[in-house]
Amino acid sequence: MADRNALSKYREKRNFEATPEPAEGGEANEGARSFVIQKHWATRLHYDFRLELEGTMKSWAVPKGPSYDPNEKRMAIPTEAPPISYNRFEGTTPPGNYGAGKVIIWDKGVWIPLEDPHEGFREGRLKFEMRGHKMHGRWTLVRMNGRGEGKRQDPWLLIKERDEFAQPAAQFSVVDEMPDSVKEREDRPEAKAAPRAKTAAAPSDGPPAGARKAALPAELQP
Ligand code: MN
Repeated sequence: MADRNALSKYREKRNFEATPEPAEGGEANEGARSFVIQKHWATRLHYDFRLELEGTMKSWAVPKGPSYDPNEKRMAIPTEAPPISYNRFEGTTPPGNYGAGKVIIWDKGVWIPLEDPHEGFREGRLKFEMRGHKMHGRWTLVRMNGRGEGKRQDPWLLIKERDEFAQPAAQFSVVDEMPDSVKEREDRPEAKAAPRAKTAAAPSDGPPAGARKAALPAELQP
């Protein structure tokens, strides 16, 4: 469990007598770090993109949600990190409270850093693989306006890497075609078939699966 300091920003924004959100809790699992993406109908709809790191869920608000098109860079605004137990939160924060509105678990699963995630988070560049129900393959979160510390408020971009899961936006919009909760589905799905546009043509020209596996560090191979 994270120390209270790591959760101070999260806690100071909330009155836990009034909101159903958890104040603390949840178990870290650095061997298989969890991720969750919560669809949040607040003042404005957005997707809260959360990665387990250093005992809390590092978080970004992504107004448009993720895109499988590497050309569609999605704005990701850093927000306060909730406890790991927040992964299971689905519900409605009452009017008048911070972040008031309905929340669903839009996707969940495991994320695998492809570079040192501690340094990456500080420096503003995270490269990782996602194994969720909707999120698959390699993704990058990169802070705009250069790297380095002291830029905690700068927006980041969420970008799909060019791999066998990437698809043009004209063929597939994951937020439109897969809008619903995955709360009742397994917490740690294995990488399964990629979501594909119904009208998708031949598979993309990404590297064959074997080549991709060979490029991963040994501990990441199945
Ligand atoms: Mn939110």
